[in-house]
Amino acid sequence: MKVVQAYRYALDPAPSQVEALASHCGAARFAFNWGLGLVKAALDQRAAEQSYGIPSELLTEAPWNLYALRRAWNTAKGQVAPWWAENSKEAYNTGLDGLARALKNWAASCKGKRAGKPIGFPRFKSKHRAALSCRFTTGTIRLEADRRHVTLPRLGTIRTAESTRKLARHLERGTGRIMAVTVRYEGGRWFVSFTCEIDRADRSPARSDAVVGVDLGVKNLAVLSTGEVVPNPKHHRAALRKLRKLNKELARRHGPRTPGGGKRDASARWHKTKAALGKAHARVAGQRRDGLHKLTTALAGTYGTVVVEDLNVSGMLANRSLARVIADTGMAEVRRQFTYKTTWNSGRLIVADRWFPSSKTCSACGAVKAKLPLHVRVFDCDECPLVMDRDENAARNLAALAADVAQSCGETENAPRETGRDGNRRPGGVGVRPTIGGRSAVKREPPMRGMPGRKATAA
Ligand SMILES: [Zn+2]
Repeated sequence: MKVVQAYRYALDPAPSQVEALASHCGAARFAFNWGLGLVKAALDQRAAEQSYGIPSELLTEAPWNLYALRRAWNTAKGQVAPWWAENSKEAYNTGLDGLARALKNWAASCKGKRAGKPIGFPRFKSKHRAALSCRFTTGTIRLEADRRHVTLPRLGTIRTAESTRKLARHLERGTGRIMAVTVRYEGGRWFVSFTCEIDRADRSPARSDAVVGVDLGVKNLAVLSTGEVVPNPKHHRAALRKLRKLNKELARRHGPRTPGGGKRDASARWHKTKAALGKAHARVAGQRRDGLHKLTTALAGTYGTVVVEDLNVSGMLANRSLARVIADTGMAEVRRQFTYKTTWNSGRLIVADRWFPSSKTCSACGAVKAKLPLHVRVFDCDECPLVMDRDENAARNLAALAADVAQSCGETENAPRETGRDGNRRPGGVGVRPTIGGRSAVKREPPMRGMPGRKATAA
């Protein structure tokens, strides 16, 4: 099965290389801002010309796509950026490409051709706030034979913080091809991410008939319908405690806002705590991601069918508890991982509808409780003698959904994309869905994009 897959490694660059990395990312931002200024000036001139009554075919054209922007950049770069030769041309291309996409998204959003929230006109990127990243698609991109270094265009050979073995093996066997590479600064570290086309060996789950329901928790990483409790990663609690401490510390420092909401210069100590907080956040996120990856890999490799809950967006906004927010963001990530990992393993994924009362339903008799507050950790059925851990009960209800889906229509999360009667993609999936207590129980979404040759595995 050919899939597009990313391999990401933390870098361990020398000081001069850190400078070069930052310079490339800064160059991308510069090109973005320069191009945006050009587009804005052209649009203003166009508006002025229109007011003079100049016919529309004679109006000034704004450089709108990547080709036009690149042409304009190449003529102007000698004047606006005489230092341009210091960085790879891919750096400027990164910025112009980002701008072209932003313009395209804005135009599509204005015309109503784009799903989701309305998108505003692109804004200038601030030196202090913009994310540092730069993408290369051409030039010397390779992994070194020692498996501890990568070579990138202009940046040269940089040491990685871990072995590149997994990707290197694919490249050596000829089952992998690097399409692009991105460097990025995140949580105080530099990362490199290779976008690759990988020919994966066909696999099937060890127990292809078995079903598992997964309930993601706060106290534990997850509780399975088999009764198994997957604990949070080691040191996760300590990292959370540190996060809480730094948040309090930051609140005590002299920040960029006055108590009245006005602006002021933040103190050096505030910036120091802010940086430490960013690092702590990245650490918590990293630990959580590691735990989730291990969980999803194990389950997708073992069970033929995996059932998870849908993300509860309104619940996420309502609850401001730190642990809860982190658990909820993990929910989206776990679903993303299950979506591709079940596809890779020829399994299937079922996503329970947002309103499916997995916690409030009795997994033995099906009675639904009207209320079950979050602090009540044990499910005690009013109709039958069942007394069970709250999360395990929820996981069992999720697993039971698999049978309903198989009976009614066999629609699964990773089934091939279908279109509605009007020919449009159905957001959130409408259609025949099994119902429990009059509510639809399964949500369906189009599969992930950018997965060529993926196998459809509807039941
Ligand atoms: Zn019951």
